[in-house]
Amino acid sequence: LGASGTFWELVERRADLTPDRPFLIQDDRTLTFGELRDRGERVAAGLRDMGVRPGTVVAWQLPTRIETVLLSFALTRIGAVQSPVIPFYRDREVGFALRGSEAEFFAVPGTWRGFDHTAMAARLTADRPVTVFEAYDSLPDGDPAVLPPPPADGTAVRWIYWTSGTTSDPKGVLHTDRSLIAGGSCLAHALRLSADDIGSVAFPFAHVGGPDYAVMLLLYGFPAVLFEHFAMPGALAEYRRHGVTVAGGSTAFYSMFLAEQRRTPDRKPVPTLRLLAGGGAPKPPELYHAVVREMGVQLTHGYGMTEVPMITMGDPEDTAEHLAGTEGRPPAGMEIRITDEDGEPLPRGTDGEVRLRGAAVCAGYLDPVASAAVFDAEGFLITGDVGHVRESGHLVLTGRLKDIIIRKGENISAKEIEDLLHRHPDVGDTAVIGLPDRERGELVCAVVEQPAGAGPLTLAQVTAYLRAEGLSVHKLPERLEVVDALPRNEALRKVLKYRLRERFS
Ligand code: ATP
Ligand code: MG
Repeated sequence: LGASGTFWELVERRADLTPDRPFLIQDDRTLTFGELRDRGERVAAGLRDMGVRPGTVVAWQLPTRIETVLLSFALTRIGAVQSPVIPFYRDREVGFALRGSEAEFFAVPGTWRGFDHTAMAARLTADRPVTVFEAYDSLPDGDPAVLPPPPADGTAVRWIYWTSGTTSDPKGVLHTDRSLIAGGSCLAHALRLSADDIGSVAFPFAHVGGPDYAVMLLLYGFPAVLFEHFAMPGALAEYRRHGVTVAGGSTAFYSMFLAEQRRTPDRKPVPTLRLLAGGGAPKPPELYHAVVREMGVQLTHGYGMTEVPMITMGDPEDTAEHLAGTEGRPPAGMEIRITDEDGEPLPRGTDGEVRLRGAAVCAGYLDPVASAAVFDAEGFLITGDVGHVRESGHLVLTGRLKDIIIRKGENISAKEIEDLLHRHPDVGDTAVIGLPDRERGELVCAVVEQPAGAGPLTLAQVTAYLRAEGLSVHKLPERLEVVDALPRNEALRKVLKYRLRERFS
């Protein structure tokens, strides 16, 4: 990158190189890199006519569409501060985002999938002067000649993202163009793709992974297929039609793909597909092996968080052992330090708290108190995740600090039990949680989804199986709950354990 390091700089450079190559593909529509620049400037001019200036906070809650990406890039052209919100969020989460970011503008899709977003926006902004506008089919439009030059400073805060709220209320995370571009560049290097690839995005563009993915497309000059509403098996037809070679998503997404493969074991659902790439949630090693064996495609998985979208990524050329059992290695420029509670570095191979420092780390939180607490004295971000680094440099995540169950004073990792349970044929996805218990502090509860056609499951069967797998007795679940569907968030389909704890406590 040049001196400024902004998103708009990447757009101009790519549009100069290959203006006619497609950047985004959706249904029967295409947006080329040249159109991204030219239409992006028109949208930016329209936004400026509405009063959006450098530093103006614009929240948007829009589905994953070509228009949404254009609006987001137009905001970078102006140098506005944007706060993307996941389209499925409702009053509670959206209220957080609007109040927290002090948004002056809010872009909504009108009525989308049966829900009136404009009415929700009116409810949430009744007490404040927020300009609500619809940006679904049509976008603001103006004459680019009125635009001042694009912002030159990639280190200004221009993005406010919201964490998933897995452990507590969502936190507003501050990013700069530079921090997001650093993450996206690392992704581009890690995946070893080429200009001939055809990508695809199954997660919402409003997720922090959205701009990271776009950076990769801008650097390589290949397109991505977008899904406004991602669902199997319909998505497969789109993958086939556009010849997708690399499909991005999270753990739940690999399982969906695998289920489709199992429906037609003698035929590949998407013949051109060679790589599933994703991250953001735990991945049972068994799932890696099943995907590679049954689908004949490679799978790479990485570790990221809203605060640091790209921390490690599996290298598609690495060994199966590392790809199945680790999150890959950090890219150049990302320092990982494993520490004890006091922040003292621990030797390799020892489990401890994961701390991070590097260009892709966010600038902090909106809340200055939370912000001060998340960095240690040496500027490392304290993740709250637990893991160790192998001699080879690969990171193994073993859990979250808040996901440790403490039973009779013994620390039990939920993830260890989940990985074992996942291998049981009558267990689909599963979440192991600690529930308050007067005698033991916490007891271990396994909450299980069953795959179609699975037989009945009892606690006795589950514990017998786990004992046979070698799990120590003190870790055995004392309670089993079979549910139709685990509660999940909309962005990455991550299991919301706090909901399960509320429900079963
Ligand atoms: P909140 O911070 O609001 O409680 P959250 O941490 O779940 O929610 P995100 O930023 O979306 O919100 O998620 C980041 C977290 O997801 C990481 O800190 C980590 O715990 C988990 N995670 C991400 N990637 C992986 C992975 N590959 N394996 C296991 N866990 C992962
Ligand atoms: Mg978090």
